[in-house]
Amino acid sequence: MKSFAVAICAPSGTGKTTVTQALVQRSDDLVFSVSATTRPARPAEQPGVDYHFVSRDEFEAMIAEGELLEWAEVHGELYGTPRVNLEEAERQEKALILDIDVQGARQVVRARSDTVTIFLLPPSFDTLLERLRNRGSEDEVRLRERLETARRELEHVDSFEYVVVNDRLEETVVRVRSIIDAECRRLDRQVAEVEALQRRLQQDLDRRRS
Ligand code: 5GP
Repeated sequence: MKSFAVAICAPSGTGKTTVTQALVQRSDDLVFSVSATTRPARPAEQPGVDYHFVSRDEFEAMIAEGELLEWAEVHGELYGTPRVNLEEAERQEKALILDIDVQGARQVVRARSDTVTIFLLPPSFDTLLERLRNRGSEDEVRLRERLETARRELEHVDSFEYVVVNDRLEETVVRVRSIIDAECRRLDRQVAEVEALQRRLQQDLDRRRS
């Protein structure tokens, strides 16, 4: 199969990282795109697995060298997708799963028009509010900022191909997986296999005629 990228975006507090990790863990034909970031690692995060944690200087050098497929500033920190992630997925003939923000998704689509874009939604406003509250302090100003960010992110939903409501993790993973399964079966991703069969058929017919 011809490899392709899948950009998964969501307003913060939708559970995107949990969905993405569960999806990749269960599928041997998908590979997670480990981003580079200048933000410090959180306690449970492993360098090289969750992110490549780099300094601002290192990140700027990656931009200058053209090593990033896309990059964006999110909450004052830099995040970017190394080009090698896509090259490695292509070599392995796997789909590359990107957990990125909407600005990044737009850049990936510009670079690779066959990118599949999926937007996750929280099941309701109340769930979103609850998840954003649980995420940090009860500080009203911070909560308002997070709600404002969610509103801005939601404005971009109309540039996405698929929308999945993340109510129950298991169901969401199955739904996202079914989108990827259907995308794998598009003719333009399987041209090589179809042409190989046509060639073999023709060769066989030619041999029988001669
Ligand atoms: P967090 O710091 O919570 O892990 O991520 C913050 C935001 O940055 C999330 O929306 C996440 O999807 C996004 N992000 C992570 N990696 C990348 C990347 O490589 N490029 C872009 N554009 N956004 C990213």
